[in-house]
Amino acid sequence: MKNNENPYETAQKQIDKGASYLPDVPPEIINKLKKPHRELTVNFPVRTDSGQLKIFTGYRVQHSLSAGPTKGGIRYHPAVTLDEMRALAIWMTFKCAIVNLPFGGAKGGIRCDPREMSKKELENLTRRFTYEISIVLGPDKDIPAPDVGTTPQTMAWMMDTYSMIKGYAVPGVVTGKPICVGGCQGRADATGRGISIACREALKCRDMPLRGTSVAIQGFGNVGMHTARILNEMGCTVVGISDISGALYDPKGIDVPKLMNYVVKNNGKVIEGYDHGKFVEGIKEGNKELLSMDVDLLVPAAMENQITKKNAGDVKAKILVEGANGPTTPEADDILDKNNVFLVPDIVANAGGVIVSYFEWVQDLQSFFWDFKEIKEKLEKIMLNSFADVLNIARTYKVDMRTASYILAISREVETIQVRMIWP
Ligand code: NAD
Repeated sequence: MKNNENPYETAQKQIDKGASYLPDVPPEIINKLKKPHRELTVNFPVRTDSGQLKIFTGYRVQHSLSAGPTKGGIRYHPAVTLDEMRALAIWMTFKCAIVNLPFGGAKGGIRCDPREMSKKELENLTRRFTYEISIVLGPDKDIPAPDVGTTPQTMAWMMDTYSMIKGYAVPGVVTGKPICVGGCQGRADATGRGISIACREALKCRDMPLRGTSVAIQGFGNVGMHTARILNEMGCTVVGISDISGALYDPKGIDVPKLMNYVVKNNGKVIEGYDHGKFVEGIKEGNKELLSMDVDLLVPAAMENQITKKNAGDVKAKILVEGANGPTTPEADDILDKNNVFLVPDIVANAGGVIVSYFEWVQDLQSFFWDFKEIKEKLEKIMLNSFADVLNIARTYKVDMRTASYILAISREVETIQVRMIWP
């Protein structure tokens, strides 16, 4: 389910709102932040299993080159557009600023349906796309990672293709790789782990206990699945889970490991057919049901524009933690705020992925690898500090957490730009 909201316009409105609290920042610097620095569009052929030559369109957008190399995922989805990539690249810049990583934001993607493609076709698509965008990639330039529709295997193909071009192994060119080619312990569930930490901190803000808190999660891919598992391990009761096939509801609590096993056996695909709890079939009906469930905590972890002015008033959860990027529109933000829903924005909540990607990149550059315990401790520390920084600003300025996160991120980004200055 995608609606007509343009995520690029959403990102720009969010910047304007945050900037309105920073009267000392020159408007021309804010205008610079509202547009990506570089955009590459590639149209390239891939041979399908049937021998046909198909032309695909892909993008790599680099939003800010101020703080270091750019960083951001690669998305394979039928609805990928240049504006979507621009928005996702902007959000990556601000996310990295919030958690103090030496990166600017980037995002890339291909308009395609990976669920309709064979493994060989996906490999051909990935290798050719990597070759096309290799002119802007590199461990010191721009470092991709997985996003919707891509996996550690996709990253291994990207790393291999880039390494073939160079003539030697370059593990630091992508993150989210399998461990055996320079991947990092704990990267697979890092985003979900970070989101779970954000949920725990948000519950504290509302004096609500972890144990017994009811949770609904939209999306059961990399992010949704691990968030469900870790929240469940922390003592929450996950009562609702949805994906593109529909929504599952069980007031006694969904057995998350069992559902994960089911999905993995179901070819890594969908929750449909799992025979416990009530199932509402269909993406539209399932989402309607899930987003309005009577739960304490709601985690949208699928796509942009899921909570809009049309359905924000139906949200019954007291806390909303954004696992996905851009799931809530600015109009929906206002409605949720009016209804006293405590919202933890994407650029704070789902930063665990890029934090552990940063750890992976650092380890690849040093060829020296850390253990899982160290990764978890370092991740937790950064998540807690950034959550506290944003909460502090929200209390000082008496604003919601999204506005607070933009105040912080814009201030940090602007400081970097002003120290380097505009040249020539
Ligand atoms: P994924 O491809 O692994 O999973 C996406 C899931 O969402 C699938 O279960 C799919 O069935 C479901 N889905 C898609 N459209 C839906 C809809 N309209 N309604 C309900 N379910 C729907 O992707 P992912 O990596 O889990 O990413 C999910 C979100 O989290 C995206 O917004 C992504 O940008 C964001 N994110 C991902 C990472 C990461 O490390 N993978 C990090 C930060 C943010």
